[in-house]
Amino acid sequence: MINICNIERFATHDGPGIRTVVFFQGCPLRCPWCANPESQIIQAHLLYDHKKCVGCQVCEQHCPTKAIQFTDHRFTWDRSLCIHCKACEQACLHHAISFAGEQRSIDDIMEEIRKDKDYYRSSHGGVTISGGEAFMQFPQLMELLKKLKEEDLHVTIETCGQFPSEYLEQAYPYIDLFYFDIKHVDDDIYRSTVKGNRKQVQRNMEYLTRKDPDKIVFRVPVIPGFNYDDKTLNAIIDLAKQHHVKEVHFLPYHTLGKVKYEKMLQDYTWSPTMMKEEELEKYKPYALSQGITLKIGG
Ligand code: SF4
Ligand code: SF4
Repeated sequence: MINICNIERFATHDGPGIRTVVFFQGCPLRCPWCANPESQIIQAHLLYDHKKCVGCQVCEQHCPTKAIQFTDHRFTWDRSLCIHCKACEQACLHHAISFAGEQRSIDDIMEEIRKDKDYYRSSHGGVTISGGEAFMQFPQLMELLKKLKEEDLHVTIETCGQFPSEYLEQAYPYIDLFYFDIKHVDDDIYRSTVKGNRKQVQRNMEYLTRKDPDKIVFRVPVIPGFNYDDKTLNAIIDLAKQHHVKEVHFLPYHTLGKVKYEKMLQDYTWSPTMMKEEELEKYKPYALSQGITLKIGG
């Protein structure tokens, strides 16, 4: 079984052609601007819609572990007590409770993927594995990759690069294209902001570029207050050139995930102002001068 957040069909921004994207649950990083915060933990996450809630407290009565409590008429959920029985979701007649994340068998996921095989062929598309970070569920990821290759499907993976190098060596033969996050070039800023180890990401990036730099695209979420400055973004272009990577994507900061934080009973702490794609056009001439194709957006 794989803990997944979602399966999206007919995607066109997550690799070549028409694709089915499988979003895995679980991520080792904690980017404060994350657009998919519900996928950060491997287990399903409760989503509470206060606009639909009438305060009847039926959910609290049905919760066997007291994970749901009303404190001063305010709904609270203690993740550490939740056993994911979903009794609360079933009990709520007002559809104010739902869950992000579910367990699906690999056969079931493959069945969903096969539905669009004709489109993959006609558009040179395939399957993209995204997240979260799929390497967090490594044995399940390997099983899925092997099935995909048995059926000769093109596989792209979107990854933050934060996982043990031996996992990469095992998975490498089954993956055709890596959309690889390069969030920053400074170890300390990376650690203090997204809570990860950039040296590990660098090791995995170097492994991939040594193997075949044509199989890796750098993806850079451009975030004001974190990496949106000429020095950092030009350094990422330089890093691509140094490792013979030919394509870099700058993804402008957006706040489309903000509403999810509210439903997860969490605060959204990053900037409320979205970026425009045009703001990043200015980096294209420098990238071009370094032999890099820079795309803005997905
Ligand atoms: S059962 Fe639904 S409507 Fe009633 S308090 Fe719980 S979330 Fe709100
Ligand atoms: S899923 Fe079950 S344990 Fe978790 S909050 Fe709902 S009723 Fe309680």
